[in-house]
Amino acid sequence: MENLLEIKNLKTYFYSENGVVPAVDGVSITIKKGETLGIVGESGSGKSVTALTAMRLTPGKVVEGSINFNGKDLLTLSDEAMRKIRGKEIAMIFQEPMTSLNPVFTIGNQIAEALKTHMNFTKTKANERAIELLELVGIPRPERIVKEYPHQLSGGMRQRVMIAMAMACNPSLLIADEPTTALDVTIQAQILDLMRDLKKEHNTSILMITHDLGVVAETCDRVCVMYGGKVVEESDVHEIFNNPKHPYTQGLLKSIPSLIDSEEETRLYSIEGNVPIPGTLRGGCHFAPRCEFAMNICHTEVPSYKEVATGHFSRCWLHEVEDEEVQNEANIS
Ligand code: SF4
Ligand code: MG
Repeated sequence: MENLLEIKNLKTYFYSENGVVPAVDGVSITIKKGETLGIVGESGSGKSVTALTAMRLTPGKVVEGSINFNGKDLLTLSDEAMRKIRGKEIAMIFQEPMTSLNPVFTIGNQIAEALKTHMNFTKTKANERAIELLELVGIPRPERIVKEYPHQLSGGMRQRVMIAMAMACNPSLLIADEPTTALDVTIQAQILDLMRDLKKEHNTSILMITHDLGVVAETCDRVCVMYGGKVVEESDVHEIFNNPKHPYTQGLLKSIPSLIDSEEETRLYSIEGNVPIPGTLRGGCHFAPRCEFAMNICHTEVPSYKEVATGHFSRCWLHEVEDEEVQNEANIS
């Protein structure tokens, strides 16, 4: 599969009175055509800032790195060229559709607007297509819904409208930032199903940003785990769930209720300590203050990103120790 998006060594920093905050600190990720990549991590891990930087919508400053999308370097494109890509080739959906839908325009008008701007549709054609799109995302009686305003719809319906808008121009990349977090479980499952179907039908690549490993399991082909502005582990989704290598990923997995044997004690594991406040991070492994395996070196030196199995990468000093032990055993025998 061909790569659609390649982010290399991206650093997005925020400059505040209290100093420099490296929100994204050397992130490299690749999304192939037709693939769904999950970025998972707690809030403040840098996952949303990574996505916003790719859209050139971050208020932070990109101090290093490159973002290649379909052969174009997004960081050096003109604002005008970037505007054309946004919405047409890369679309984004957010957690709370109310903040991205305009309350004073009807649903139909808002979808039609995107079609007129990016696809040069006539008004009549745009209106017809708006109804088709609402049908596509499973909205009943779309002829009626196009005439309604966002506040007249339920949260689940609004999220469907957002997806319809995002899919309007048939983008090659859809960035979904916590798209189902505000919804109840049943509606969440329906929305994820819908996204999966759309991806299959249109070969859309999806960047799924979430703190929820359940969502990752449902939708993703591959997953990157972020912590403190860095990717700490990456592999295909099956491998992450069955063979997690990084202590942070292991902790996240242990805290999912559905993975705990119901016969066993049902108390949920939670990772001790708090998510680091960006800007207070010191050298070494960012997870060290919360890690039960932390060694001296973890507090001072940043571990390298190692391929621990084919296509499976992890950033942890334990892998160096393991390698050394294997080496020593080999020497002894
Ligand atoms: Fe824990 Fe050290 Fe690995 Fe960081 S590098 S996750 S502190 S063992
Ligand atoms: Mg976020």
